[in-house]
Amino acid sequence: MIERRSFLISGIAFTAAAKSACATPPPPPFSLRGTREQGSLLVGKLVEPGKVMLDGKPLSVSPDGYFAFGFDYDQKAAARLTVTTTRYGLTSNNDLMPVPRTYEVQRINGLPETLVTPPPDIQKRINRENGMIVEARERDTSGIGFAEPFDWPTAGIISSVFGSQRILNGKPKAPHFGVDIAAPEGTAIHAPADGSIVLAEADFYLTGGTTVMDHGHGVFTMYIHQSALKVRVGQAMKRGDLIGLVGKKGRATGPHLHWGMNWFQMKLDPSLSTRTASPSKA
Ligand SMILES: [Zn+2]
Repeated sequence: MIERRSFLISGIAFTAAAKSACATPPPPPFSLRGTREQGSLLVGKLVEPGKVMLDGKPLSVSPDGYFAFGFDYDQKAAARLTVTTTRYGLTSNNDLMPVPRTYEVQRINGLPETLVTPPPDIQKRINRENGMIVEARERDTSGIGFAEPFDWPTAGIISSVFGSQRILNGKPKAPHFGVDIAAPEGTAIHAPADGSIVLAEADFYLTGGTTVMDHGHGVFTMYIHQSALKVRVGQAMKRGDLIGLVGKKGRATGPHLHWGMNWFQMKLDPSLSTRTASPSKA
């Protein structure tokens, strides 16, 4: 398999400041894996011990040197990654500009009106459920399940891509922050990487059977519209472990898995972090 969209930043290439002083030790080298597009996850690795900051805020670094961050789906400004080595206290600043993307416009008609514009009491329930999902993604844990490329969680056909502007029954709604994989009801969903379960709810209003998995350092994946859950909160997961079954619970017109990825609350495109461009056929 060709390694997808990898690139390496040697600190040397990026740091003008250290260039002039010939006796100074080289600036901290690190590698970054990720497509560097809007909505992509970036996985970094320090070559020697050090500290990492993104736009002035510290990122947690694993004992092996791994760290993670994302580019927002509509990010237009460069992110500044600052790496400082413990050994020499040398700092390199790297301004990383996300490659812009053009997103699709998707019109879906014929949805029950109560799903498109829920009545106030239902909206309260939706807000509460969304709050639980947001809370699940607040933790910054030490796992490094994010460090290796992800597998597709289920077999099937991509029926909706990340970032599409959605017009539901003629009303503009939030973009589609995930990848839909159409598959027969009951198709197995497997963990795409190591991690742990931080939310498992069988019947949310919009999202049906909903599972959130923590892969460490703020990287989360989410599984929506499941007909059955096969995990509970707190469960440790290995790549390939069964998460649940494909369904059409919640706001769905047919059976599919909505697969989401986040860096904390930032919504990312999981299809940019997979080993292969598309899932195998169901
Ligand atoms: Zn979806």
